[in-house]
Amino acid sequence: MSDQNGQDAAAPAFREALIDLDAVVHNVRTVAERVAPAEIIAVVKADAYGHGAVATARAALAAGATRLGVADLDEAFELRDAGIDAPVVAWLHDPGADFAAAVAADVELGVSSRAQLDEIASAAAGAAARVHLKIDTGLSRNGVPATEWPAVVARAVELERAERIGVVGIFSHFANTSREVDADQLAAFERALAIAEQAGLTGRLRHIASSEQALRDPSSRYDAVRIGIGLYGLTPFGDGTTSADLGLTPAMTLRARVAAVRRVDAGAGASYGHIWHANAETTLALVPLGYADGIPRQASGQGAEVLIGGRRRPVVGRVAMDQFIVDAGDAPVAVGDEVVVFGDPATGAPTADEWGAAAGTIGYEIVTRIGPRVPRRYTGGPRTVPWPEAEDL
Ligand SMILES: *Cc1c(COP(=O)(O)O)cnc(C)c1O
Repeated sequence: MSDQNGQDAAAPAFREALIDLDAVVHNVRTVAERVAPAEIIAVVKADAYGHGAVATARAALAAGATRLGVADLDEAFELRDAGIDAPVVAWLHDPGADFAAAVAADVELGVSSRAQLDEIASAAAGAAARVHLKIDTGLSRNGVPATEWPAVVARAVELERAERIGVVGIFSHFANTSREVDADQLAAFERALAIAEQAGLTGRLRHIASSEQALRDPSSRYDAVRIGIGLYGLTPFGDGTTSADLGLTPAMTLRARVAAVRRVDAGAGASYGHIWHANAETTLALVPLGYADGIPRQASGQGAEVLIGGRRRPVVGRVAMDQFIVDAGDAPVAVGDEVVVFGDPATGAPTADEWGAAAGTIGYEIVTRIGPRVPRRYTGGPRTVPWPEAEDL
């Protein structure tokens, strides 16, 4: 297999995150089939959860996503600068954010307050700003509080009639708490939609579900679903449902080459603090990835594993800034051998979700925090659009 730079994707590098764009395409199609006729807003915030926003966005759009979602304006501008002209919505704004530049770049804006609405309308200066009004249905993060919703809707209608804004969508976000809380949030969303419709905002794009509800609850899908983690092939569920159960393929494989091997005697301590000692003579393999690269130090001693030579081996001792140690037993491991830290479970590799469990966190955090020292390399993906060069971030 050869990637867009003609490199051999099968050959391991010192350390790298291999991003399989075919997996992104597969995941978008799998989710799309499940949620149709709802549209897919591909959420590529935080550099596409560490996968690289531009490449991932292109793959998601080619696979049928109709819109992109990001947190802040700089993330939206990155997509525009790369020549992506699909609809993009950004929903987390600094006070004083450059809404004029956003409108000029045709970036749609999530609106969480009356103040934001007015700021956006003034910044639009002539052009109509495209907005999605956000109602807080119980996450208590951003979004317009229910008590202020009627006034914000009334103001939006006024500004729309004056052609200073266009209300593209109405949305909210779940707290991912329980089905009961989801039901309360859906009821609150329904009330907000009814108020908006009575005020004349009919036929707008309604969206509330992210991956978890989109995959589980048809009544949450409305006109569009915002899919983040599902694109990357990880599970949104905390109940043990795996990505494989969902038919999703993890897109990121984190791998490296063994930097050193040594044979140690029973009783030898390894890595800082000697939290681990060999209970028999064994071979230790050194992996050149550490917490600077997003390998969680909290996973030290928690049963995380890697794949070396087709077999899973335990991570032992403390994860350091640049490196960690694997107990390879009596296997013939050599310097330069490939180590897969996580990837597609179909290959026998551990998943980012398993690393999340070992570190007391979620797969989302594992992939998103893979650090800038780890180059992303791309394979696969549709060839009908130009791909960016694989970048060293
Ligand atoms: C991050 C985010 C999403 C995507 O959530 P996933 O669980 O990754 O699918 C959707 N909507 C909003 C508002 C978000 O912040």
